[in-house]
Amino acid sequence: MSAEETSGVRPLVRNDLQAMDGYHSPQIDVAVRLNTNESPVAPPQEFRDAVAEAVRDVDWNRYPDRGAKTLRSKLAARYGLEPSQVFAANGSNEIIQSVLLAYGGPGRSVAVFEPTYAMHSQIARSTSTEVVTGERNHDFSLDMDEVRRVVTTHEPAVVFLCSPNNPTGIVDPAESVSEVLTMVESYGGLLFVDEAYGQFSAVSATSLLGENRSLVVSRTFSKTWSMAAARLGYLLGPSWLMESLELVVLPYHLDAVTQIAGTVALDFADAMDARVAMLVEERGRLVEAMADLPVEIWPSGANFVLFRPTGADGEAVWQQLVDSSVLVRNCATWDRLDGCLRVTVGTRDEGDRFLEALKSTLT
Ligand SMILES: *Cc1c(COP(=O)(O)O)cnc(C)c1O
Repeated sequence: MSAEETSGVRPLVRNDLQAMDGYHSPQIDVAVRLNTNESPVAPPQEFRDAVAEAVRDVDWNRYPDRGAKTLRSKLAARYGLEPSQVFAANGSNEIIQSVLLAYGGPGRSVAVFEPTYAMHSQIARSTSTEVVTGERNHDFSLDMDEVRRVVTTHEPAVVFLCSPNNPTGIVDPAESVSEVLTMVESYGGLLFVDEAYGQFSAVSATSLLGENRSLVVSRTFSKTWSMAAARLGYLLGPSWLMESLELVVLPYHLDAVTQIAGTVALDFADAMDARVAMLVEERGRLVEAMADLPVEIWPSGANFVLFRPTGADGEAVWQQLVDSSVLVRNCATWDRLDGCLRVTVGTRDEGDRFLEALKSTLT
């Protein structure tokens, strides 16, 4: 029988998945890639060498440490927590999925406040969790009345906040996060704060963490740690919640090499802090330069800036930037983001190329 022939009926994916789109950013070959919020610079050579050396000694015939003890202890020390209050997984997306497998699922719901990170609702759907949606204010700040309305009406099992928010860059004030936590705790829900960009901002929900709080905060090695290639994220929160995630993760889900990469990276925290400081400064420079152009800009606490060309079609501007070999994220057709584009903060050189291309497109 040739590969072309078939007998019978093809299996269908689950009914509730059929209407879903995958989440992808187009990977176009350009000189300046500012579309996925990666770090523009690699971690130090000493990091690479230390990882390579540690990988040489891996017991390849043995399963990795199931509890990722070394990595979790080092992460815990960084935040003044116990190792039992830390969970690590293959990117913060696996963290989100694990939390929703354990606390979402059929008959339960999650709340998101749009516009926000699309993966929160995408993973909710793939775990058969209902998504209830609230809207942010016109300036994309949290609308506390709307949050109260959504939360008290639906009592979602998990409420997602994302701060700094992707794709807007907006930081939720600590008082708002605290207020949402109180609402969520009143009926036994869980507050999940996604801080993938936490180090780029001075505000963090980690100060609200505690054994008796129904709060978890996720962070990732993908952005500030310059390690998107590794797929490593972590969650901070009460130990009883971390323990419950063991019910849903696959055995030995975090491989030995990833554990090593994360453990070694923590020895280079100063280099990470220096990269973050460099990017925060460059973000300020970009925003200042863009203020002279016909664009609307939102204040960002992250390593990207959301902007909307005011005299030109966002989609057309995106294409013209691509034609100049500069790739930014095209959000022009996203709900609430009509005509918006999102540019990742890169090196100064990349910033100059972006500004030059944007300027010649708009003026
Ligand atoms: C990039 C990003 C992540 C990172 O996901 P990883 O799986 O850790 O790479 C998580 N949350 C938000 C809001 C992001 O923008």
